[in-house]
Amino acid sequence: MRRLVFCLSLMSLTLSGILAMGAPVYGEPIAKQLFGKMKSPAPLSARAIGSYARGCLSGGAMLPISGPGWEAMKLWRNRNWGHPQLVKYLERFATEAQTIDGWPGLLIGDLAQPRGGPMLTGHKSHQSGLDADIWYRPKPAEPLSKSERADSWSIKLADTYGRKVITENWKPGYVKLLKRAASYPETARIFVHPAVKRALCEGAGSDRAWLRKIRPWWSHNYHFHVRLKCPSGYSGCANQPAPPVGDGCGKQIAYWMKKLEAGEKWSKTKPKKPKKPKKPKKELRMADLPKSCRAVLNAGPGAVSAAAYSTAAPLPVRRPAVAAAAAQSSTARASTAKANKDASLPRLKGLTAAPLPTRKPQ
Ligand SMILES: [Zn+2]
Repeated sequence: MRRLVFCLSLMSLTLSGILAMGAPVYGEPIAKQLFGKMKSPAPLSARAIGSYARGCLSGGAMLPISGPGWEAMKLWRNRNWGHPQLVKYLERFATEAQTIDGWPGLLIGDLAQPRGGPMLTGHKSHQSGLDADIWYRPKPAEPLSKSERADSWSIKLADTYGRKVITENWKPGYVKLLKRAASYPETARIFVHPAVKRALCEGAGSDRAWLRKIRPWWSHNYHFHVRLKCPSGYSGCANQPAPPVGDGCGKQIAYWMKKLEAGEKWSKTKPKKPKKPKKPKKELRMADLPKSCRAVLNAGPGAVSAAAYSTAAPLPVRRPAVAAAAAQSSTARASTAKANKDASLPRLKGLTAAPLPTRKPQ
C-alpha cells in the first residue's frame, strides 16, 4: 500500500513536471524597463517605498534645476526627482553650506527617476527617492547652461585605488562641507572614497561624532552620496541598520587602506579578457519589488498599461523539481544556495577573486 501511494505521488510529480515543461511560464516584466520610461511622477501621496536598492517612489518632487546654492547636472537623464524630504534636505544643505560655511555651492548629480525604481543605466540604489549624488567640484559662480550641465564633469579627489586624496584638488573646506551634510538628523549615511574618509578623519579635530555617518565605499572619488533615513509615517519604507558605532577612523581606515592596496595589485595582474564569457546579470523583475510599486506605475499620466505586464518575455521553462534536484551536483547546489541568500548583493563576475570587503555598504 505504502509503495502504491509512493508510486502514485511520484507519477503525479512527474506529470506535473511534464506539464510544467510544456506550458509557457510568463515572467514578470523587467522593472527597469518600465521605471526607466516614466517621464513624470506618480500623482499619489509622497512615499519612499521599499529599500534603497529594491524600491520605488510615489509622489516624487523635482529638485529645481537651479537655486542660489546649487545647480542640477545632467538634466537629460531626468533623475532630479526624489522624496519631497530629499529635495527639502538638498535645498537646505546647499543654502546653509553657502551662507554659513562659505562654500561656493553644490553641483548635484543623480537623485532618482520620476517614479524611482531600477534604472536602465548605472546605480544599484537610488530607487526609493532618498539617495542623491553630489559632485566634489564646487558650483561655479556663473549660472550653467543646459549644454554645460550635460558636458561638464566633476573633479576627482582620489584615484580609484588611491590611499591619499589628491593634494591639488583637496581643500579643508571639504571637512566643513561633509560635516554639514552629515549634521542633519535625517541623514542616514554618506558614502565617500576611503581616501576621502581618511582625510576627513585627519581634519575633523575633536568633534568627531558626525564621522560615524561617513562611510568609505568604492567608486566615490568624483562624488559623495547622501542617503536619508526613511521619512516617518509610512511603514513600507525599509531603513538600513544604523552604521557601526564609533567614528570609523583608526582600524577601519587601516583595513580599507589594505583593501585599496590589494585592489591596485589585483587590477594590474587581472587578465585583460575574461576567460569565460560573462553571464547576463539577473535583472530585478516587478515581483522583486514591493507590490505597491505596481500602483506607482499604474497611476496618472504615463501609466503603464496592463499589456506591459502580459507581454513580458517568458522566463526559461523550469525543469521538474525532482529531476532538476537530482541532476544538480552538490557543489552547484551549495553555490546556488549561497547566491540566493541575499539577492540584493551586486553580482561581481570576475571580481570574486578581488580583495573586496563585504559588498554591502556599511
Ligand atoms: Zn550614488
